[in-house]
Amino acid sequence: VNKKNIKEGQAEILLASEKVFYNPVQEFNRDLSIAVLSIFTEDYKSEQIARNLKKDKKVCENVFQDASGNNSEVPIIILEALSATGLRSIRYAKEVPNITKIVANDISKQAVETIQANIVHNNVEKLVETSHDDACMIMYKHKLPLKRFAAIDLDPYGCPSIFLDSAVQSIQDGGLLLVTATDMAVLAGNSPETCYSKYGAISLKTKCCHEMALRILLQCIESHANRYSRYIVPLLSISADFYIRVFVKIYSGAIHCKKTTSKLSMAYHCVGCDNITLQSMGGFKPNPSEKNPQQTKSYLPSGPPVNEFCQHCNQKHHLGGPIWSAPIHDEVFVSRILTHVQNNPQLFNTSKRIHGVLSMVREELETPLYYTLDKLFGRVHLETMPMLIMRSAILNAGYKVSYSHASKLSVKTSAPSHLIWDIVRTW
Ligand code: SAM
Repeated sequence: VNKKNIKEGQAEILLASEKVFYNPVQEFNRDLSIAVLSIFTEDYKSEQIARNLKKDKKVCENVFQDASGNNSEVPIIILEALSATGLRSIRYAKEVPNITKIVANDISKQAVETIQANIVHNNVEKLVETSHDDACMIMYKHKLPLKRFAAIDLDPYGCPSIFLDSAVQSIQDGGLLLVTATDMAVLAGNSPETCYSKYGAISLKTKCCHEMALRILLQCIESHANRYSRYIVPLLSISADFYIRVFVKIYSGAIHCKKTTSKLSMAYHCVGCDNITLQSMGGFKPNPSEKNPQQTKSYLPSGPPVNEFCQHCNQKHHLGGPIWSAPIHDEVFVSRILTHVQNNPQLFNTSKRIHGVLSMVREELETPLYYTLDKLFGRVHLETMPMLIMRSAILNAGYKVSYSHASKLSVKTSAPSHLIWDIVRTW
């Protein structure tokens, strides 16, 4: 057999067959996942100990004490549900600290044979085991609380939605779900009906389609989690190359699920000037002035109705969404990954790119979506204004402005849309 050796990070992969999937372009995705998992596993242990100490003793004994009553380590077991060559799992085993075990699963027999050969080739037999199963089946088999995984990685071809029902049930409370989606045409508005059937949201063809894609995927994961009284807390959401990748924590709590609608919005997209107006879906929101803000019964009405015609150019609206309109990153978590990568650049081949992307992510305003300079000025057939002038104009008017990591020409701002059009008109 014609074997090909591939080195990436601390792993060396033998590719015995062209039929087993390997994509070198995804090295950035794998490097970033390793950086995220390294910070996540640090926190996870202490969080689990604190969480279980609060619960009844039995759970504590099962999880934290061995047969002789000695305290044992919090297990950190990771599932790579769609593993192909095993490269990602082997890299996790060699490069992420604190991991107890990794299960590398694939439905293809050939892939599982490749993974097994690669485990032996990399001497990680003690940490990585193979599984030959349908991804959903292995996850459903681990949905009972004591069998759940600390983290699940979903990296399928195209759309991940068919794996979400089982994934959200098989992750520990406070565990991490890592999801890639590569069906960008669907998510970016080329086929809104398909997007609705796959993700439960209508996509829009617009300048900020990459962030829309992230927000559609996040609402989709949240809606799957809510069915089991669980909810997501996004840590990091990235648009890169031809795919998107989100890292979300999963928690249980029916009361938190009531707040989901307040984290979602419908999006009205003007067919004339490309302007987007969000309408919040309203719902329960914690009221910090109340004694127990989690128990609050204050109900937020949905946002004001959006007119049939655009306020700027009088053209019709297309309706998109619902999208996740709450924060898509955790700034503190992002800063910690950034510091980790800055302090250890030798660990990642793509450390420069991670540094660049995360520096932008850290500066991103929480305001959903963005304008792009070329589209704004293209619409009115004017030469594009330099970015510096646009940003200064917004700042001088007293509003905030930032880039989005998803687009070089992006303008994310807290300013109302009429101010942006006023600035365009003065050019
Ligand atoms: N995660 C890999 C990496 O980083 O190199 C790449 C995974 S590749 C895009 C997708 C893999 O999913 C293929 O190897 C395919 O055999 C496998 N697959 C497809 N459907 C599956 C299913 N229902 N259950 C388990 N594996 C599946």
